Amino acid sequence: MRLNVVLIGPPGSGKGTQAVRLAERYRIPHISTGDILRAAVRAKSALGEKVAATLASGGLVSDDLMTDLVRERLAAPDTARGFILDGFPRTVGQADALERIVSDAPLIIVLIDVASEEIVRRLSLRRVCASCGLTQSVADHGGDVDAPDQDPHGDPCPYCGGQLIRREDDNPATVRHRLATYATFAEPVIAYYRPRQTFGAVDGLQPLERVTAALRAHIDGVGS
Ligand code: AMP
Repeated sequence: MRLNVVLIGPPGSGKGTQAVRLAERYRIPHISTGDILRAAVRAKSALGEKVAATLASGGLVSDDLMTDLVRERLAAPDTARGFILDGFPRTVGQADALERIVSDAPLIIVLIDVASEEIVRRLSLRRVCASCGLTQSVADHGGDVDAPDQDPHGDPCPYCGGQLIRREDDNPATVRHRLATYATFAEPVIAYYRPRQTFGAVDGLQPLERVTAALRAHIDGVGS
């Protein structure tokens, strides 16, 4: 049976981390539109040049561009058994477009719920390893939101020893803009999906393992 999973949640809700775990568990690809766009910016591709300024500001890339990108990605053969979509749809326009793109099996939608004060704290502590790309949280010394992007005295990546850096759009000003953007656009998307039987919400404040278990319980419950 195909599993077409859409994860919704604010930046810093643990969506990406959970998506990786679910993708491994169900052996279907994790498709993060943010990752695709960041890779395009790094590669300085035509797409990257188009979206670089929007990503840096924390605003949203246009629905048309995002829809084309997702349509193309979901046509790849590795999605034959389904996918974990992370970061799309972010607007009702994108949700409508997704209905047209995916018609072979119902979407399973899960919201990871986290209050915004907790998000600001989490994002201030979030670092990405420059070598292995793993996202992780550095020690909480009171949530120093204005810490430098690269702390030369910070600990190295516990997995590969690489340098831990802050994602460019995790700086305080951009975080505030991203949260405001989420607050504006997410509610209508959640309202769009909430009446469906396949919609579920999990408490993202629980420990990581419990969030994964709750997500799996929802997916297994409606996907079988
Ligand atoms: P994320 O990694 O999901 O937080 O995405 C990082 C940035 O990529 C966002 O702040 C947006 O600028 C852009 N982005 C990612 N997905 C979308 C989308 N579905 N629609 C519009 N912009 C997006």
